[in-house]
Amino acid sequence: MTNFSDTKRLFELPDGVIYLDGNSLGPLPKSANKRVAQTISAEWGEMLITGWNKAGWMAQPAKLGNQIGRLIGAEPDHTVIGDTLSIKVYQALASALDMRPDRKVILSDRGNFPTDLYMAEGLIRSLDNGHRLVTPAPEEVETNINSDLAVLMLTEVDYRTGRRHDMARLTKLAQDAGALVIWDLAHSAGALPVDVANGGADFAVGCTYKYLNGGPGAPAFIYVAPRHANTARPALSGWLGHEAPFAFDLNYSAGAGIERMRVGTPPVLQMAALEAALAIWDDVNMDDLRATSIALCNQFIAGVEAACPDLTLASPRDAARRGSQVSFHFEHGYAAMQALIARGVIGDFRAPDIMRFGFTPLYIDEGDVAQAIDIIADVMQNRLWDRPEYKTRSAVT
Ligand SMILES: *Cc1c(COP(=O)(O)O)cnc(C)c1O
Repeated sequence: MTNFSDTKRLFELPDGVIYLDGNSLGPLPKSANKRVAQTISAEWGEMLITGWNKAGWMAQPAKLGNQIGRLIGAEPDHTVIGDTLSIKVYQALASALDMRPDRKVILSDRGNFPTDLYMAEGLIRSLDNGHRLVTPAPEEVETNINSDLAVLMLTEVDYRTGRRHDMARLTKLAQDAGALVIWDLAHSAGALPVDVANGGADFAVGCTYKYLNGGPGAPAFIYVAPRHANTARPALSGWLGHEAPFAFDLNYSAGAGIERMRVGTPPVLQMAALEAALAIWDDVNMDDLRATSIALCNQFIAGVEAACPDLTLASPRDAARRGSQVSFHFEHGYAAMQALIARGVIGDFRAPDIMRFGFTPLYIDEGDVAQAIDIIADVMQNRLWDRPEYKTRSAVT
């Protein structure tokens, strides 16, 4: 059994804060300070340009990709990091559409994170080839799978409600209908066990600054199934995805396997922080993590429902259908969340009325959840949120 009181000690958690927002931005691993400082002084400072070879900067995207690969059940050497998740969504979708030239429908759902849908719209406009994005309610994805479908592109866990799609089932249905399948694992990687290889995903993408704790702006990842690795055509054909970047050939020729999904120069300082964060994950058993996450979520739901009749559960009650977050509807959710943050319970608000709390066994335990419930009960029962200073919205919510 992974010892989560040991992992908790590896994070910088400010006194008086119960951090239920690791699903938006994971906290700082203590080891990241030193690791980043070392990259700045001993690598960048002393090695200068030779750091690309000597410090292994150029090989980092594949190395870190493999560590993430283990967490998502990927075959070794089929995951690479770089860019942001929006870019990785675009890359996966462009490559997938290219493999189904006779089909024009992209199926997603209206619970998807908007940037995924925006990237699809932008790509459709650039291709100008009659593609269509279809976004039914999440429950209606299955009935929209048919032989017109080029690509099924879904986020496994809904960012607002935590509702979880049945990845294996939908993948099989779509592939049986002749489509390709892309999974966005933004709220899955580091949140629950994922098995992209056995689940049969064609592509998977995700970010590393949420549950994986890579830090603000940490690079995203992309997985391409081995059967497509040497045929997927990169739409963003940057030089570091070229088969021989330092030949400086004037013509593009895609690199071997997953390397072709690299675009340009990787963020070396950010990768140093991510390396420190991923080292913690190397010792974590994902089944242990899931069992603990479910226990924390259930404890939270029971406690909040018992104390706060004004909050209605927005997440599935059945743990198997939920990711690692719990959301409640509340008309004054924005103000209530500000009142909670002022009292050290940090979650976030998602329009129009969702109060969202992430549960991350690496550094959140039963005692934290019990304390958070008490503070939420106080804020709700005594209407502590009903003050003007909690109602002014900031740019980032
Ligand atoms: C967080 C999140 C993103 C963010 O994309 P960035 O390009 O990293 O800003 C995209 N998609 C989903 C599903 C997310 O949850």
